[in-house]
Amino acid sequence: MFKAILIEKQDGEQRVGLQTLEESQLPEGDVTVRVECSTLNYKDALAITGKGPVVRQFPMVPGIDLAGMVEASSSDEFQPGDSVLLNGWGVGETHWGGLAEKARLKGDWLIPLPSAFTARQAMAIGTAGYTAMLAVMALERQGVLPDQGDVLVTGANGGVGSYSIALLSRLGYRIIAATGRPEEETYLRELGAEEIIDRGELSEPGRPLAKERWGGAIDSVGSHTLANVLAATRYGGTVAACGLAQGMDLPTSVAPFILRGVTLAGIDSVMKPRPARLEAWRRLGELLDPAQLDAITRTIGLDEAIATADELLAGRVRGRVVVSMA
Ligand code: NAP
Repeated sequence: MFKAILIEKQDGEQRVGLQTLEESQLPEGDVTVRVECSTLNYKDALAITGKGPVVRQFPMVPGIDLAGMVEASSSDEFQPGDSVLLNGWGVGETHWGGLAEKARLKGDWLIPLPSAFTARQAMAIGTAGYTAMLAVMALERQGVLPDQGDVLVTGANGGVGSYSIALLSRLGYRIIAATGRPEEETYLRELGAEEIIDRGELSEPGRPLAKERWGGAIDSVGSHTLANVLAATRYGGTVAACGLAQGMDLPTSVAPFILRGVTLAGIDSVMKPRPARLEAWRRLGELLDPAQLDAITRTIGLDEAIATADELLAGRVRGRVVVSMA
């Protein structure tokens, strides 16, 4: 028996609750994990509240991230007692996820828990931090280096934005943070931002090309913001596109690409192949300070996850929420 958040749908109506389930109800997979911690991402809050089409089949255990210990395994890669980590792969969307005391998964989806982090710290990073690392790696691959001008981070107070600032700062970049919450300036400066701009400067329809302002950018906002970010990117620069907080559309022109040689690099964390995940987590272990992680993390129990999902969508949560099964 184990406890899990279960989302069910009956007659078009979604219901969610904390339930006690039998192990025989777990989905197929070659590795059974005793989950130690999960986290509440924006996507998990959408799934729990039913406010976004995240869950693709019912009943579903939400939770796109988990960290724990292998309990049983028929995979050659993992033995009972191994500490493991999972991000994405459709877990919490099409396959039962991490907001439970147990999970059964494909061994191919798991990676060893990096030795730099406890399960709790790995979940404080979660998909947000891992996605930020993928975006930083994309900028590096394109030759956006600290000596080539400022890097802009949009959605600066969000999970992806905050981790992007922390990582870029550690690597020596000068960072401009675009935010709609200027009252959080101290927090952004502590993370490593040197200049704060109002996100309103970027959110309205703009010109195809604007004055060159940054050599690279990490954007989790999309829509007009991404179009304006591209328009103000310096010759030969790169913008890593991660998200759609403003919208899924991209009302731009080819001008930044054909007149300034700008590159738009797409970032997907969910289906990212394993070697890049291992590399991203290795780099996170090198760059992030575990003490800083503890400071921005609030830990809750599984029984508090449903109420906290509402708070998160209402914008009342700052920093990261780790869900501990202990
Ligand atoms: P989050 O914590 O909710 O942060 C999003 C931030 O975007 C907010 O904190 C806010 O920053 C800004 N924002 C919100 N609404 C906006 C609007 N209408 N216009 C401009 N800015 C707005 O979310 P997250 O976890 O960081 O995720 C950010 C985005 O990335 C989401 O769209 C998410 O779906 C996506 N994502 C993608 C991947 C991937 O694999 N590609 C992985 C993780 C997340 P300020 O308060 O500072 O303005």
